[in-house]
Amino acid sequence: MKKTVIAGNWKMNMTRAETKAFFREITTQIRAKGGCGVVLCVPFTDLAAAARGARGTGIKIGAQNVHYEKKGAYTGEISAEMLREAGASYVIVGHSERRQYFGETDETVNLRARAALAAGLKVIICLGEMLDAREKGVTDEVVSMQTKLALRGVSEKELRSVIIAYEPVWAIGTGLTATPEQADETCGVIRATVASLYGKKAAKKLVIQYGGSMNEKNAADLLRMPNVNGGLIGGASLKPAAFSAIVAAANENEKR
Ligand code: PEP
Repeated sequence: MKKTVIAGNWKMNMTRAETKAFFREITTQIRAKGGCGVVLCVPFTDLAAAARGARGTGIKIGAQNVHYEKKGAYTGEISAEMLREAGASYVIVGHSERRQYFGETDETVNLRARAALAAGLKVIICLGEMLDAREKGVTDEVVSMQTKLALRGVSEKELRSVIIAYEPVWAIGTGLTATPEQADETCGVIRATVASLYGKKAAKKLVIQYGGSMNEKNAADLLRMPNVNGGLIGGASLKPAAFSAIVAAANENEKR
């Protein structure tokens, strides 16, 4: 895993034709080889086109969810093997929109993460507190518990294929961003929790991203923080110029 990873989450945006056009543009601006890790997590129906568009660039392709069973009567679901076959090497699990709108729980986040890891995918586990928790001063307890529950049964070897995305729910898609200090502090809590489970060395190597209205203007300040090793980017990942500016900020930061 690279030291810094910038991942885009397109959510339910972009048709296949739009995906092809996006990759034609972005590949003139980003060469992921040699720089930070770059991942784009696209709708299932765009995976093949995105994988083709990213060929030879070093940009990795991911999905936004995965089912935990290998196959069977699970109408509407997609297995890890299907994702890999379609060109994904990453998958997001536990995004707050899935937790809020689709009944995702800490338990199903864990099941999905383990199934994806077992199938050889890299996993971006999303977690973060609601506004209410931040206001009540229990952010640390919430993210620490989410981290422990998400990683239950994940081996130390598998942890090397895990990224944790700290995404305060109040900052996602709202234009509100955690301050660099808030992001660093809470990513630090997650790292300390991982250290308590796997040891300090493994925790130091873990990529912890910040997500929540990261854009080309605030990326450099957030990425400069020691516990922030990248970003998970929603809205700004749909615009090639904004996304490549964030990747450029991460590459600059890696040189420091
Ligand atoms: C996200 O979807 O994970 C996200 C952080 O969205 P946005 O950047 O739009 O806040």
